[in-house]
Amino acid sequence: MPEEIQMPKVKCDINNCTHWIPGSRCGAASIDILNEEVGKMSQKAEQTKCKTFSERRGLSNLIGSADNMNWVGFAEEFVGAGRKLNPKITCVVDTCKYWQDNNLCNAETIEISEKSDVSEYQATNCNTFEYNEKPSNNEKIQQQQRDKGEQFH
Ligand code: SF4
Ligand code: SF4
Repeated sequence: MPEEIQMPKVKCDINNCTHWIPGSRCGAASIDILNEEVGKMSQKAEQTKCKTFSERRGLSNLIGSADNMNWVGFAEEFVGAGRKLNPKITCVVDTCKYWQDNNLCNAETIEISEKSDVSEYQATNCNTFEYNEKPSNNEKIQQQQRDKGEQFH
């Protein structure tokens, strides 16, 4: 059986996201960290983004986010069963030194913050990013998918 990988803890300061909860926590079940520009791998934190960001605009927007809500985590936090309120992270930014095979992240904690007033996910950053100065494999895959008109993630 494959060893279970511990997800990094997510600390997020973007309090106008539907998934944000007080205490700089993220209540989403899963989040995707991508490069701002498809096919162009990040060399600094400002070029990364949390694709799962969704601006809180009203009740309908909040209900729309319910399918990506970590309900089990909420319940377990509530009854004190341990730290479960943490999203699963998929990160394609393989130019980061914390990136691992299968689009995993091996940082202990990742910090998500905004670089300007956030109403678009492009304005979010993974501030924990550190450039590994290595060529990117994901960049090629993204470019091929884009050329075929497919969506990357
Ligand atoms: S911006 Fe991303 S990490 Fe922050 S609360 Fe929203 S989904 Fe979670
Ligand atoms: S620290 Fe690096 S590998 Fe981890 S989520 Fe952020 S950009 Fe991706």
